[in-house]
Amino acid sequence: MISVEEAQQQVLSRISVLEPERVGLLDSLGRVLAEDVVSDIDVSPFDNSAMDGYAVRYVDVRDASEDSPTVLRVVDHIPAGVQPEIVVNPGQAARIMTGAPIPMGADSVVMVEHTRPDTGEGGIGDTVAVLRPVTLGENVRSRGEEVREGQSVLLAGETIGPAAIGLAASVGHAELAVRRRPRVAIVSTGDELVDVAEKPGPGKIRNSNSYSLAAQVVQAGGEPHVLGVARDTEDSTRELLERAPEFDLMITTGGVSMGDFDVVKKVLEEIGELEFWRVAMRPGGPQTFGTIGGTPFFGLPGNPTSTMVGFELFVRPAIRKMAGFTSLVRPRVVATLTHDTRKKADRRYFLRSRLTRGADGGYTVAVSGNQSSALLTAMHRGNCLMSLPEGESFVAAGSEVICIRLDVEEGTA
Ligand code: AMP
Ligand code: MG
Repeated sequence: MISVEEAQQQVLSRISVLEPERVGLLDSLGRVLAEDVVSDIDVSPFDNSAMDGYAVRYVDVRDASEDSPTVLRVVDHIPAGVQPEIVVNPGQAARIMTGAPIPMGADSVVMVEHTRPDTGEGGIGDTVAVLRPVTLGENVRSRGEEVREGQSVLLAGETIGPAAIGLAASVGHAELAVRRRPRVAIVSTGDELVDVAEKPGPGKIRNSNSYSLAAQVVQAGGEPHVLGVARDTEDSTRELLERAPEFDLMITTGGVSMGDFDVVKKVLEEIGELEFWRVAMRPGGPQTFGTIGGTPFFGLPGNPTSTMVGFELFVRPAIRKMAGFTSLVRPRVVATLTHDTRKKADRRYFLRSRLTRGADGGYTVAVSGNQSSALLTAMHRGNCLMSLPEGESFVAAGSEVICIRLDVEEGTA
């Protein structure tokens, strides 16, 4: 039996980052950028107005006040999207809209709220009274404020979020080079399994693991491929496991405990390489890891919660590493346990639990339901895995414990 940390390290040492691919801008959401994104223009491409108002010469209005307004003649009306041609000379102003280019001669913009029509409506040919001074360059957004032509606006290794997509769009990249999403094969094993649409007959249960796992793969940034159910025979299991090299990673559930029909480990040893098969943890001690034709292979235990916890601890970091993320694990927080807990001393426990934040900012934690590994409800109602260390057989209420948050994606620990 090896420790959780040893198992995690052994897994990650076998995992490499996948190659990049070019995808449409929106498809890059949530992925890791593989190369810098360089701008083909200055953004913004021209000096423009940050306000609806009047483009003016700063020196003309620097003494303007409510009591003694500066009156300027309006020589142009500039909407966004139009290149102005008229020069603003001393004593003149141009009506200007937000985002419109600053006309020649003007250097500042007075908000419309700080003006009043003097003659007419403030249109071309009318005069406008400026009621407050501006500072030089006030309300002008300068050319190249976001990024200069030839500069990088996004850097390789950054995760693409909505703002990054907006930046890429503004610098003319309709496609981005991002790390490929790992293609993850999912195989369930067990003669007792029927699909979700079926009502289980005598001795049968529905296959829930293929679904919970596929959902975990999606959340981790992978692409699930559910290959189906292997019967509890070596031939049926081999037939599906042999397909591992078609994928970046393969996960099976069940068939790795000590039962008479638990053939996954045997088939793995026959067609691939076994790295480890038991980890000192609960739920789910029989966590199997190896490679088949070079593809990393995870034989997770069959009990639904053991499957999910095994995925969380071993498979998720592997998928994230393949997808190019540098932060591979969830954040951990220290919380005060609210109840006594007994455990076996020889293994680490991961209790399905709920963290609550108190008024003082500190966390408390309690289990979120029945801890049988066959049951999923506590996992659903919880928001963390409470990690209770090896070596302890009793953890008293009031103890400080480490919790792995499942409701937050990235962490540093
Ligand atoms: P095993 O490791 O194959 O002995 O499976 C352990 C337990 O998990 C058994 O009670 C199985 O019926 C159950 N189990 C195995 N595979 C699945 C699955 N895909 N969906 C739900 N339960 C499963
Ligand atoms: Mg089984």
